[in-house]
Amino acid sequence: MPIHLLRGKSVLVTGGARRIGRAISLALGNAGADVAVIYRTSQAEADQTAHEVESLGCRALTLQCDVRSEDSVRKTIAATVSHFGRLDMVVNNAAIFGSAPLESISLEQWDAVFETNARGPFLVAREALTHLRAVHGRIINIGSLGGMHAWAGHAHYCASKAALHMLTQTMAKAFAPEVSVNCVAPGWIEFQESDGEQSQRLAAKTPMKRNGTAEDVAQAVLFFAAGASFVTGQILSVDGGLGL
Ligand code: NDP
Repeated sequence: MPIHLLRGKSVLVTGGARRIGRAISLALGNAGADVAVIYRTSQAEADQTAHEVESLGCRALTLQCDVRSEDSVRKTIAATVSHFGRLDMVVNNAAIFGSAPLESISLEQWDAVFETNARGPFLVAREALTHLRAVHGRIINIGSLGGMHAWAGHAHYCASKAALHMLTQTMAKAFAPEVSVNCVAPGWIEFQESDGEQSQRLAAKTPMKRNGTAEDVAQAVLFFAAGASFVTGQILSVDGGLGL
């Protein structure tokens, strides 16, 4: 029987329909939270995830939002508050990954990664702030090991995640004492569709001798969601020691 540490709380998860976002939505639902599952293109997966949250005995809502758009983010926050009556937490999980030799990254590629991975979480946090302050809420950003370690073939992604890590710390200071802000930084998370050879190579390099799961990331999100609000401005690696 799960302990409903988040019963009565309302949470918004960007990119909450599938993969890591889905695991986060379900873990928060399992802890008793009402969950707004935010998607951009994955409507069917969002409906399925919301259905599973409801089957845990919580309320769920699906909303389409493009985190790059101020108008879209504003409407999404307003719709969530209107539906649940409050907003206690946002999880900035939506992101895009990019792979390209540094010298050939185009302006469009650079801007697309930053618009989603750094500007998106800023917009969501800024628009949610009044509601979060009212209930002593929390912001949880999903960063990356790539924001702390240089991956030469993913410079725009790494730089955008480093920006999100710093945004976590600046928001933690700026939004205190009402709102705590933390970041979970996953290492290599394996899915069925992951490249098998790369997965094997990374698991062998990882001190814990396996790759991460979406549930490993969700457990770390739960720590920041339900643990001491005195913890703020922290970046927690979930990488099996790969970054050591
Ligand atoms: P995905 O690459 O699968 O993307 C997550 C979701 O982001 C997508 O489902 C998509 O929603 C949403 N999204 C993308 N662009 C936008 C946008 N403009 N507006 C709204 N939503 C958008 O992520 P993962 O599950 O692999 O990872 C989740 C988080 O963890 C990300 O922040 C990622 O950077 C981080 N991470 C992941 C690692 C991994 O190994 N997978 C490693 C390190 C960090 P939709 O499908 O509805 O379009």
